Amino acid sequence: MKLVELLIEYAISSLDRHFTYIYKGNKKVDAGFRVLVSFNNKEIVGYVLNVKDTNSSKEELEESLGYILNEIIDVIDEAPLLNEDLLNLANEVSDYYLASKISVLQTMLPPSLSPKKSSLKAPKIAYNIFIELIDDNEEGLTPKQIELIRLLKEEGRVLKNELKSPSIIKKLLALNRIKEVKEEKRRLELPTYELEVNKKLTEDQNKVIDEFNNSNDQIYLLEGVTGSGKTEVYLTLSEEVIKRGKTVLMLVPEISLTPMMNEYFIKRFNNTVAILHSELTPAEKYDEYRKIASGDIKVVVGARSAIFAPLSNIGLIILDEEHVESYKQDVPPLYHARDVAIMRAKAHHAKVLLGSATPSLDSRARAQQGIYHLLKLTKRINKQPLPKTTVVNLLDYKNIDRNSAIFSKQLRQSLSQVLERHEQAILLLNRRGYSSHVSCRSCGYTFKCPNCGIALTYHKSDDMLKCHHCDFVMPYPDACPECQSKYISRIGFGTERVEDEVKKLFPNARTLRLDSDSAKVRTRVAKTVEAFARHEADILIGTQMIAKGHDFPLVTLVGVVLADIGLNMPNYRSSERAFQLITQAVGRSGRQDKTGEAFIQTYMPTHYAITLAAQQNYEAFYLAEMDNRKKTYFPPYCYLASLTIASKNEERAIQEAINISKLLTEKFGDEGIILGPVSPYIPFLANNHIRVCLVKYKNKDLAKRIIKEINIDYLTKSNVKLLINIDPYNF
Ligand code: ADP
Ligand code: ZN
Ligand code: ZN
Repeated sequence: MKLVELLIEYAISSLDRHFTYIYKGNKKVDAGFRVLVSFNNKEIVGYVLNVKDTNSSKEELEESLGYILNEIIDVIDEAPLLNEDLLNLANEVSDYYLASKISVLQTMLPPSLSPKKSSLKAPKIAYNIFIELIDDNEEGLTPKQIELIRLLKEEGRVLKNELKSPSIIKKLLALNRIKEVKEEKRRLELPTYELEVNKKLTEDQNKVIDEFNNSNDQIYLLEGVTGSGKTEVYLTLSEEVIKRGKTVLMLVPEISLTPMMNEYFIKRFNNTVAILHSELTPAEKYDEYRKIASGDIKVVVGARSAIFAPLSNIGLIILDEEHVESYKQDVPPLYHARDVAIMRAKAHHAKVLLGSATPSLDSRARAQQGIYHLLKLTKRINKQPLPKTTVVNLLDYKNIDRNSAIFSKQLRQSLSQVLERHEQAILLLNRRGYSSHVSCRSCGYTFKCPNCGIALTYHKSDDMLKCHHCDFVMPYPDACPECQSKYISRIGFGTERVEDEVKKLFPNARTLRLDSDSAKVRTRVAKTVEAFARHEADILIGTQMIAKGHDFPLVTLVGVVLADIGLNMPNYRSSERAFQLITQAVGRSGRQDKTGEAFIQTYMPTHYAITLAAQQNYEAFYLAEMDNRKKTYFPPYCYLASLTIASKNEERAIQEAINISKLLTEKFGDEGIILGPVSPYIPFLANNHIRVCLVKYKNKDLAKRIIKEINIDYLTKSNVKLLINIDPYNF
């Protein structure tokens, strides 16, 4: 009999509780295996931590342990799920973010291998069956049989299900002239491209590559203006690493960017590339994961969680567009792929390359201090100038077009010129839906989400009000619930409305829209981006999804429809976000042989984030914003953690938040600054009232110890939950 210690799939708290079960069966079971157990009369999945043989009886063990031992129902795996390297990484991530280990494992593994009940419906390995020739002797065969033998001789091997004649195959198999060969099938079909001849690198690109190669530093920040050829640097460095027998992890921040990066890498590295992102089906993910683990793969291109890909012998980890916040996961474990990349690189003695036109202040500041090695690409390829950019003041009546509530005179005129020249335009508005909120004109009542407390957005395509935080939807109201007035008005506008307006003003223009509404359907993002790249549309309208990374040669106009969105949010990162978004968007214009133009419409034409983005002046913005952060004492001048308290009872949430704030103040003393408790931007979470406390600190080890202590305290409290976020972005 075996005594098995395990974690169970319910990551109720951020602390790991170990459970002990017994196993009497004869399957192999070891650390890293999944098992099926019964817990509170439910069948769930456990993850084995260790196994001990025992000669004692169940009763004796129960006697000495003091509790009833349940039996493991079944062992699921035949081999451990993770190798030592990934197991260590899981421990490190769980420790740094104070996240339960089971939640980290669930994030690390593809759905079909995850320690979750749902994984038991896992896809099976798919096989291809090939027919191969053993003997090409045609003697004694019928003409049909000879036909097949000749075909095989010509083609080498043929997929069985591509051959039409099962009876002939059967006969030839029996005669031992042909054989069946079964091979694991890769369900994800990589698109095929003609392999590319490497571009001749520019002098600047070569300089950066030499500097990277000749240094022993571990972490590099490549600051390169939009269109400066960063991707070519990634490809060249990857090629060198692979030549040395090592592997490469290439991360992109968003699903919308993976098709393009995939194409670049597949063109260069063919079928040694694996792809991992959220648009793959579970079966495809399973195949890619296994293929990577098997060692056939040299490069993994993927989104955030690809940082956990089971590659061995990693030589280089690249994060493109390193400033993008989607590298931080927003459900537990609240990890940041950049920090995990650095942990992983240490274990592999690999280098990390962070690339961006607008590096995060955190990374840029570290480069300034010499913690990261700063590399720069300052010129666009082909020496194209940056687009001519105009800030349009929407407060000035001279700029207002009387026929359009959305476009200024300048932007409208430029759009029509682009259409005349048969070029393309991108219109950015960082808000999806039709109108930003819906109110009663008689009493001012605003429709809000009952779960989250934030204003609902009107979506015209399905005539619904939707919450942009949770999945709450309701039909468009006939009347105000407060005063029964029928005068309901829609205030503000979103991407849907911009698309309507374009269609109204330019009925012949072909439009495409890309935001997380239109991207709900799997593969829609890739299709939209590809269609626009093929010039199947003249104008692409979208949210921040369209601002990054894309390289559309025909785009000569970018319009930022309203740059102010987000700039007034009470978050220390709001200027940084606005600057990055606008700079990246403007950078989409005029990337190849045509000079581009951009218009930034705003009610805050003198805000430094807007004026400096218009100049594409990252360095000036960096200095201005660092000064700001220094004055207000926010990262990168300190570290930040948030402690979120949630309770069904508002009184209780307030009470506990005050308590936590007191505890933090006591325990940190001079070592920390405590903010809050405050009511956050989104005041409800899954129908709980929430309050947030923030701590600013310099000593990470001390902070971890204190926060862990408080966390343990709160685990046992009922009716109140504590969620810890280390290095949070939103609160
Ligand atoms: P970034 O990622 O820095 O914004 P890209 O890597 O997308 O820039 O490069 C911009 C454009 O320049 C792309 O079309 C790319 O194919 C092209 N390009 C990059 N390097 C070279 C080179 N050495 N010679 C010619 N064209 C290049
Ligand atoms: Zn009303
Ligand atoms: Zn909601």
